[in-house]
Amino acid sequence: MNKFLQIFIITAVIVMWLLFPKNHYSPTINGEALGTTYMVKIGHTISQHQLDKIKQAIRDELEDINDKMSTYLNNSELSKFNKWQSLEPFAISESTFKVIAEAQAVSRISKGAFDITVGPLVNLWGFGPQKQQQNPPQKIIEETLQQIGYKNLKINAQNHTIQKLHPKLQLDLSAIAKGFAVDSVCQVLIKLSIKNYMVEIGGEIRVSRFKYGQKTWVIGIESPHYGTIQEAIPLREMSIATSGNYRNFRYDPVTKKRLSHTISPQTGKPIDHNLASVSVVSTTCMYADAMATTLMVLGEKEGYKLAQQLNLACYFIIHEKPGTYKVLQTDAFIKLGQK
Ligand code: ADP
Ligand code: MG
Repeated sequence: MNKFLQIFIITAVIVMWLLFPKNHYSPTINGEALGTTYMVKIGHTISQHQLDKIKQAIRDELEDINDKMSTYLNNSELSKFNKWQSLEPFAISESTFKVIAEAQAVSRISKGAFDITVGPLVNLWGFGPQKQQQNPPQKIIEETLQQIGYKNLKINAQNHTIQKLHPKLQLDLSAIAKGFAVDSVCQVLIKLSIKNYMVEIGGEIRVSRFKYGQKTWVIGIESPHYGTIQEAIPLREMSIATSGNYRNFRYDPVTKKRLSHTISPQTGKPIDHNLASVSVVSTTCMYADAMATTLMVLGEKEGYKLAQQLNLACYFIIHEKPGTYKVLQTDAFIKLGQK
């Protein structure tokens, strides 16, 4: 065969192979942890052996976090602290300390709207480990409010200790631990040389730079009409966390209205406003998770104001009248779509 023809055929085959859309195999790992479900997608072709190794490493990581931060496990590090009524410093693990320190920072930024000491109120309203359907009397709410407050928790970064300034103080990391767990699972994957991934735990998500090749992950923001997608956003090396009022709730036996599991540390009651959901995009999922809950507590007006001040990329879905919603995006969120 003519040499030129030979080179031409080889080049054409290579070009066609490069251009032809390849059927990409992305293994997906599903499981349950931290009282919710998780899903990890991997944008690489990997062996079964590697996949088994990754699955085990994820399970170990999530079990470790649960053993430390669960309020449902009687023997978790956090439950031990909660039962401890002493005002002496209490030594905790590096990871629990990291989450608590971040939570305290978010409490300061939000002037106490985010508060990991709200646990007793969460329980009182039947959203904690002790489920109950009755609304607590006002007197009990007021008494409980006296025992809470993030300022009653002292943290010491040098020796990783935390300290109660009120003997009845309790910590509840439910609004931030899932985000931390997402970040931790991403670290596990990176250590195992997985560069392309998407990690989701209970709706909180973090993605790598690429899905595979040069492809970007596209993440959907759910509409309050359960199950449909309101907005799809491309994300690169970012996290997105959503706080929604339409999933975890119970009905008030008196007013028959929905009661949210998000508690206002100011009133001691479930929040009651028109914000159906708020999604926050940020580098770490821990921060996004905590901020989503914070903005949910603050509501449409105050929440939007704080998000703008912090230059936070947020997507608010606001309930207008039955069945109708409006969307509000912060400037930083609009810029995300322009990148
Ligand atoms: P959402 O995704 O709706 O924000 P999260 O699971 O992140 O929900 O957090 C809600 C949980 O956080 C509640 O079930 C409760 O345990 C706890 N929580 C409720 N109110 C607050 C608050 N003001 N600050 C911090 N944590 C809270
Ligand atoms: Mg949260």
